[in-house]
Amino acid sequence: MRIDVFSIFPDYLEGPLGLSLIGKARARGQLDMRIHDPRSTTTDRHHRVDDAPVGGGAGMVMMAEPLFASVEAAQPPRPLLLLGPGGRKFDQSFARELSTLDGFSLLCGRYEGVDQRVADHLCDGEVSVGDYVLAGGEAAALVIIEAVARLVPGVLGNEESTLDESFAAGLLEYPQYAKPAQVRGWGIPEVLRSGDHGHIAKWRRSQALRRTLAHRPDLLTESDLTESDQRLLDEYPADL
Ligand code: SAH
Repeated sequence: MRIDVFSIFPDYLEGPLGLSLIGKARARGQLDMRIHDPRSTTTDRHHRVDDAPVGGGAGMVMMAEPLFASVEAAQPPRPLLLLGPGGRKFDQSFARELSTLDGFSLLCGRYEGVDQRVADHLCDGEVSVGDYVLAGGEAAALVIIEAVARLVPGVLGNEESTLDESFAAGLLEYPQYAKPAQVRGWGIPEVLRSGDHGHIAKWRRSQALRRTLAHRPDLLTESDLTESDQRLLDEYPADL
């Protein structure tokens, strides 16, 4: 998969994208990450990439021309998505969609944002990582790249873990524990140490259901429960 990112702060991205899962996937050649600095396409003496908003107002706006020139020079994989708080909300299903592509690209804004003509005539869509305002698109780009890259076959060591995690089946994940069995007086649910895998699977599903009902009623409410899930909740009380 090829991912191109356009940012006037390439150093912001290079560190995290060289580490851990993504760094290794790049080293193995599974991920082709290219970071482009639109400032390098400017030809004026000050290498300007921003200017005051036309019509007045606070702050600066990223100018269209350096962004057009940088994208035209790079010929990045499409879709090219502009990062911005007004875009389609990024979530796990959006991440899955992107993970099936051969590539995609992200364009990071800064300051007060980007000249509207970039959204209208250069990019293919706009994506937001949540209802809050960041100082730039770089942190958002890292969120998206990390969530997508780990879904690309071969990038994560253990493929199973993306099938059995939060949001994969519309539920939050069940609680996990590691040894030792006692930590500062707190134990581990007995069932997990029983060796009975059928029993463990049922307990885990009951916990995932319970957690989702309690913390994320937007994902699941009592009325969505199937009969067998309802039976599971009755069978495995919360305090087990
Ligand atoms: N004035 C703009 C915010 C600009 S923030 C507004 O009120 O909508 C500067 C840049 O940070 C944006 O151009 C965008 O690229 C990035 N950014 C800020 N918040 C974001 C979010 N929630 N999701 C994705 N990108 C974001």
